[in-house]
Amino acid sequence: MKAVVDIVIIGAGMAGLCASVEAAAAGANVIVLEKQPHIGGSSLLSGCFMAFAGTEFQKKLGITDSAESLVQDMLHVGQYKNDRTLIETYGHHQLDTYNWLVEKGVQFKDCQAVSGHTNPRGHTIVPDQAINTLKDRAIEHGAKIYTDALVTRLEKVNDRVARVHVTYGDHSYVVEARKGIIITSGGFSRSEDLLEQFAPGLTNTIRLGGAGNTGDGIRLACDQGAWLRDTPYLKGTYGFHQSSTNDNKRQAHTFYKGGIIVNEQGERFVNESMSYKLLGDAALQQSNQCTFQLWDQTIMDKGVKGDALYDFASLYELGLMEQAESIEALAKIVGVPPSSLQQTVWSYNEAVDTENDVLGRTTLTHTFGKPTKIATAPFYAMRTSTAMLATYAGISVNEKAEVLNPFSESIPGLFAAGEVVGGFHGAGYMTGSSLGKAAIFGRIAAKQAIQQSYIEEALV
Ligand SMILES: Cc1cc2nc3c(=O)[nH]c(=O)nc-3n(C[C@H](O)[C@H](O)[C@H](O)COP(=O)(O)OP(=O)(O)OC[C@H]3O[C@@H](n4cnc5c(N)ncnc54)[C@H](O)[C@@H]3O)c2cc1C
Repeated sequence: MKAVVDIVIIGAGMAGLCASVEAAAAGANVIVLEKQPHIGGSSLLSGCFMAFAGTEFQKKLGITDSAESLVQDMLHVGQYKNDRTLIETYGHHQLDTYNWLVEKGVQFKDCQAVSGHTNPRGHTIVPDQAINTLKDRAIEHGAKIYTDALVTRLEKVNDRVARVHVTYGDHSYVVEARKGIIITSGGFSRSEDLLEQFAPGLTNTIRLGGAGNTGDGIRLACDQGAWLRDTPYLKGTYGFHQSSTNDNKRQAHTFYKGGIIVNEQGERFVNESMSYKLLGDAALQQSNQCTFQLWDQTIMDKGVKGDALYDFASLYELGLMEQAESIEALAKIVGVPPSSLQQTVWSYNEAVDTENDVLGRTTLTHTFGKPTKIATAPFYAMRTSTAMLATYAGISVNEKAEVLNPFSESIPGLFAAGEVVGGFHGAGYMTGSSLGKAAIFGRIAAKQAIQQSYIEEALV
């Protein structure tokens, strides 16, 4: 059975839904194919931060910020291994996309200081509200969204990728796209074979992320001649309790409020203000991959109720954190050498006074905030693991979201956006930039696809 539309979008997360709203609002005949029984992918599970600069929200909070500063931070965090053109494209379109999301009804609740940013610019969404609002807008504009619709293969027609093979229910269909096919199928954090192939060092991580994020888009695009980027830089995310699951993500970033991180010898081993991706790398290298966050009551009081990263009190109430009146007692509870842990905290506090930390810590996170002493009882610790949430490597694209082959030539008819794309984060990931790029480049892919000339003749 065969159907013909203007644009086929593969995957209904942030990228796919933004693409569908943009394309359908412009009058294109759009279908979105989502293989899971529900839409949302990792976007629905996400920690809710989107990186935007110069927004009205920031202005209301008295935060002065700019796209230029955001771009510089992204390049810096990516260790200049990321594609500058893609980052500058993000910078150029980010404010417009923030305003577009607000206009479409996506609600931003807060704006926080998050990893990698010079200024507080982690704009928080409620994922469920954002995803369902975008879905509603897409449908209002005439897009058709099918769940349980697994895309299995793409096919060229006269050198242009124009056919999508899909299994829907018990049947297989071919959908033909007159203007373009947009891959927005997310990453591969749930694909054991791709993780084994690209990131064997991450096999001992907790697996989170959308159940459908098995790298299908990478396989579909490679089958059409696509190139991949950033695969050597795959990283886990530090900060999870071992019991975390997709339904119960038990995450605490006390280190960005001033806590320290120690190994089972009771020693610090990393500058805690760095990106939690780099913290994950460092933690995985410790003996038995055993590490703890350690903090005091002053930091505990900086927790934010209901926040994905900073709701320390809730994790404490769940019994996931240890508490003691002295560092020595805490060390005994968590099983690290007490004298070593006392020495570590003493040295750290001295370094806070002298501003001469042996691991180079001068801030709370990235360039933001000042470290404080760990000195006010009671003291707390949480055994902390690294999780594989998202894979920031994948299909090579240009600033128009066109999929590129190994010679950096675009593959006609094929676009990609969101987590499935590589080249954007380089060697390091900056909080909020993944949902941000999904929205920004989802829209760009749609705008580009709309501009393609019809290829109806080729299809008949
Ligand atoms: C716990 C967690 C916290 C996170 N926190 C943040 C954060 O605070 N800020 C941030 O920027 N990023 C965060 N991320 C990462 C971010 O959520 C993702 O990178 C982003 O949501 C990806 O959006 P997407 O639209 O590209 O993919 P997704 O939202 O994953 O959507 C892809 C969809 O494609 C579908 N699909 C896959 N293959 C096929 C196929 N063959 N046929 C049809 N459909 C298919 C999938 O089922 C899925 O629904 C977090 C991720 C997790 C898991």
